Amino acid sequence: MLPRPFEYVSAQSVGEAISFLARYGRDAKLLAGGQSLIPLMKLRLAAPKVVVDINRVAGLGGIQDDRGGWVIGALTRHREMERATAIQKEFPILGDTAVTLADPLVRNQGTVGGALAHADPASDWGTTFLALGAQLELQGPKGPRRVLIDSFFRDAFLTVLAPNEILTKIHLAHPGPRSGSAYSKLKRKTGDFATAATGVALTLNEQGGVSGARIALAAAGPTPIRAPKAEQALMGDRPDVAAAAQAAARAARPPKDLRGGTDYKTAMVEVHTYRAIERALERARGRKR
Ligand SMILES: Cc1cc2nc3c(=O)[nH]c(=O)nc-3n(C[C@H](O)[C@H](O)[C@H](O)COP(=O)(O)OP(=O)(O)OC[C@H]3O[C@@H](n4cnc5c(N)ncnc54)[C@H](O)[C@@H]3O)c2cc1C
Repeated sequence: MLPRPFEYVSAQSVGEAISFLARYGRDAKLLAGGQSLIPLMKLRLAAPKVVVDINRVAGLGGIQDDRGGWVIGALTRHREMERATAIQKEFPILGDTAVTLADPLVRNQGTVGGALAHADPASDWGTTFLALGAQLELQGPKGPRRVLIDSFFRDAFLTVLAPNEILTKIHLAHPGPRSGSAYSKLKRKTGDFATAATGVALTLNEQGGVSGARIALAAAGPTPIRAPKAEQALMGDRPDVAAAAQAAARAARPPKDLRGGTDYKTAMVEVHTYRAIERALERARGRKR
């Protein structure tokens, strides 16, 4: 199907994009990689009167190691994340996520910021950045504000972004020593969203016990969700990986759909949480995998 007729404008700066949004309000939609917006427009599930292209906005892309941590521009393509070996040394979960997201064609175009703003319940980046406790920088007419990703997603396909705001940057603090992270995803075929997926980020103390853990699940609720009881089960001198994986499965509320029934998906949450924790532990212990 063809989209409904729309006006196209191209913003050259974040300020200009915000003024377009302020002028057209809810009639306007930002266009980043177009990998979610264009299919929705073709299906006529979205019919913006004005499309504001942000692809020519300077300074909205790129991955930088700032003194305080890493800064990922919202317009960074999935493919760039796949190739970003420097940041993956500190956060190997980013490489795990990038290679499993969609397919190479989508990864060439789609952006990290677009994926977060789109807020699919099965969003791979949403789940991974939730596990990492990322801070998101949003900019509107009143200037920038930062939001912890835990309070960014409000519901399926709904975030705290105001209609006149742009997601500009994702901030990640440098992880401490003995930190590890991993993402494990089950999908039916290349190019598919997760049937079940888990992101894990953890830190060990000097004795090898777990001193910090964040576990996030994709496709297990209306938004990517954390599994606090699974995190608790992992903490302490002897991390109980099986108990943590079982607790994650209990936290999951996966909907029955074409990818499987609730019982099957819940069982897969347990399997993939177990795998992600094991890999994150190995990485934290310095045994690369
Ligand atoms: C075949 C296919 C398979 C896919 N598989 C997966 C998958 O396995 N896992 C997964 O997580 N995703 C998957 N996706 C989605 C893909 O990751 C998209 O790239 C992503 O969801 C949207 O990013 P985009 O840059 O293309 O955004 P767009 O489509 O351009 O925009 C999406 C929405 O976000 C808004 N937006 C974009 N950028 C910003 C910004 N900076 N600030 C505020 N709002 C913004 C737009 O207005 C729009 O509402 C798939 C898509 C396709 C087509």
